[in-house]
Amino acid sequence: MSYCVNCGVELDHSLDRCPLCNTPVLNPNENDRQDSPPPFSKESGHVEPVKNRDVILLYSLVLIASGVSCGLLNLLVFNRSFWSLYIIGACIILWVLAIPVFVYTRLPVYFSLLLDGLAIGLYEYLITFNTSGSRWFSELALPITAIATLLAILIAALCRRVSSSFLAASLYIFVGIAALCVSIELLVRRFLGKDLLLTWSAVVLTACAIIAVALLTMLSRSRLRSAVRRRLHF
Ligand SMILES: [Zn+2]
Repeated sequence: MSYCVNCGVELDHSLDRCPLCNTPVLNPNENDRQDSPPPFSKESGHVEPVKNRDVILLYSLVLIASGVSCGLLNLLVFNRSFWSLYIIGACIILWVLAIPVFVYTRLPVYFSLLLDGLAIGLYEYLITFNTSGSRWFSELALPITAIATLLAILIAALCRRVSSSFLAASLYIFVGIAALCVSIELLVRRFLGKDLLLTWSAVVLTACAIIAVALLTMLSRSRLRSAVRRRLHF
């Protein structure tokens, strides 16, 4: 066995150059180098890329199998409550999340966000089969999901149409968080039969307003904007 004089790697006796550093191998004692086959194949291998269609088929079948088997287990064995609806709902959400990635990659972001919101709404509806009443669904879960979905679509639209810079996107997100928190508090208070006042969400609103003013100032002054960009490396 010989070793490379330059990098010290162990060399096959058929090699005339080191595979690592390309240093020529000079071994006066060996003269059968040409006769033996080279240790590495000269032909380059080719692996076919996996198609999206195959991935989504596997993904869908795994999700369908999980949903169906849990449903059957629920119906036939553990049938005290509709527990399998939680798993079926989760499978539906996971499948919907995969649509823009595998099935229809050119799906507009607004439409995929809407589908996500609908899937979450459906999941919440399935939960009502396991709860004593469905008032929480119609008065809390559904409106909150609808508002969150609309805000997400609005933020996506603003990023696409107005500006998608880091500062602008942060501004939209903070305004969206404030709007969502205010809506959640008002909906919860209405659900509990209390007066429509802002308490904890007023704190969130104030914090978001301060951040929004700072972001707006940075956005309107190019010198500030470039200073922030330099410091945050984006
Ligand atoms: Zn070497």
